[in-house]
Amino acid sequence: KTIGQALHDAAREWGGDLALVSRHQGIRWTWAELDHEVDRVATGLLDRGVAKGDRVGIWAPNCAEWTVLQFATARIGAILVTINPAYRTSEVEYALNKVGCTFLVSAASFKSSDYVAMLRELGQEKLPMLRGIVVLGAKQHDGFEPWESLRADPDMERIEAVAATLHQNDAINIQFTSGTTGFPKGATLTHRNILNNGHFTARTIKLGHRDRICIPVPLYHCFGMVLGNLASLTSGAAMVYPGEAYDPKLALEAVQAEGCTALYGVPTMFITILAQPDLDDYDVSTLRTGIMAGSPCPVTTMRQVMDRLNMGEVTIGYGMTETSPLTTQTATDDPIEERVGTVGRVHPHAEAKIVGLDGEPLPIGQQGEYCSRGYAVMLGYWDDTAKTAEAIDADGWMHSGDLATMDENGYVRITGRIKDMIIRGGENIYPREIEEFLLTHPAIQDAQVFGVSDEKFGEEVCAWVIARGGEALGPEDVLAHCKGRIAHYKVPRHVRIVEAFAMTVTGKAQKFEMRKMMEAELA
Ligand code: ATP
Ligand code: MG
Repeated sequence: KTIGQALHDAAREWGGDLALVSRHQGIRWTWAELDHEVDRVATGLLDRGVAKGDRVGIWAPNCAEWTVLQFATARIGAILVTINPAYRTSEVEYALNKVGCTFLVSAASFKSSDYVAMLRELGQEKLPMLRGIVVLGAKQHDGFEPWESLRADPDMERIEAVAATLHQNDAINIQFTSGTTGFPKGATLTHRNILNNGHFTARTIKLGHRDRICIPVPLYHCFGMVLGNLASLTSGAAMVYPGEAYDPKLALEAVQAEGCTALYGVPTMFITILAQPDLDDYDVSTLRTGIMAGSPCPVTTMRQVMDRLNMGEVTIGYGMTETSPLTTQTATDDPIEERVGTVGRVHPHAEAKIVGLDGEPLPIGQQGEYCSRGYAVMLGYWDDTAKTAEAIDADGWMHSGDLATMDENGYVRITGRIKDMIIRGGENIYPREIEEFLLTHPAIQDAQVFGVSDEKFGEEVCAWVIARGGEALGPEDVLAHCKGRIAHYKVPRHVRIVEAFAMTVTGKAQKFEMRKMMEAELA
């Protein structure tokens, strides 16, 4: 199936059911209304000469139009390029030109950034391939067309003629990775890749047309656009967007007001929701399930999500943009220890193996690099055969760059990223293990551990810690907590109590940025 067909099916099957709620915009659409809206914009794009395979960019925070464009481009076979809403001129210029975008839909502004001013500054000169720019937002912008101009009367004959030429293995998205370890990479994904991943994810958390998913994660990333939008599309569950960007209060309000049954987030989002002083004032009794994914999911956080957010059936997902994204997920009927302490087992129709430095599979229980294969593996990085060949080997295995173990029952544990491993005086140290330990301190809300270069040991362990609201916590308390409880070489040499970490828009801590800052400070 293509994504366009899947939306027609959804409209036929659940036409009158709620499909999309965008709370900050006051929009509520049924599947039939969403389908109609998508036909309008698909026609509008065809009117502009957008053709199959053309790259259409979207540079905007979460909103209903984002999703309409996702489905409208899919319906006519254009490739949607999702641009990070935190990008500024030079990054937008790079991303749009790198993939040859000919059409762009942009927000007028987001937070304190004026996108219109940035687009003016770039102009035709710096974006020579761009033929049209539509700017979302109420105001009319000189030189840029409003979204309204894309909402043509649906021309079903033309849409169906194009749809008949589409194939499930066509590229449909260029999705950028989070940029946790460096510059983001553009993964080229097909209908088959992401539609199936949405389907299997929905099935794992047992979504149906009466469910409502609270989606506070960014749509520009696979978590929102696949695990959110496409899991909805394949199950009939409604997508609920609490706001333009993540805010714990908006997420809780959305859950309460819309009666959401599922809530998504990266671990840091759940940690800040759990830290809300008035958490118990919100009615979260409708919640049942959800997904925590994107970075290591602490056991303590998982247990609290189950107890305090009423999410007894919450699951952990593991994957990467390059694999559409999920390749493993816990199941609601897994034993509790596995549900809080592992990333679950391999998804349907996917394969996984753990390999050693020589690339050979390791025996059960041994730690090595996690690799996966199957329908979900991307076509490749856009226009970058060298990087693609580094990531996907000749037999089709995607090398994750993550360290993992698999037990005799198939449960996978992610022990950290290869790049994040600290080598101190010949001793391998896994930040994840120390982070989990630090989180057992009652006054520690969140912790990040990374290596900084050190003359004597090569690298030293450094910890950045966020204190729980109102708690007095000093580096000496953190050290006292560690002494005698973890091996001496794992005890952080440098501890900083901070207000926030360096983060990606997807909510992941950027250790390479924190390392840079620490090394500058220590130099
Ligand atoms: P970049 O590749 O640009 O450095 P990124 O790898 O964070 O950024 P994504 O594709 O968004 O970009 O994230 C995939 C990565 O996130 C995985 O390779 C893994 O390191 C991490 N990850 C995802 N889910 C989990 C999880 N449940 N537990 C631990 N790590 C996870
Ligand atoms: Mg990555």
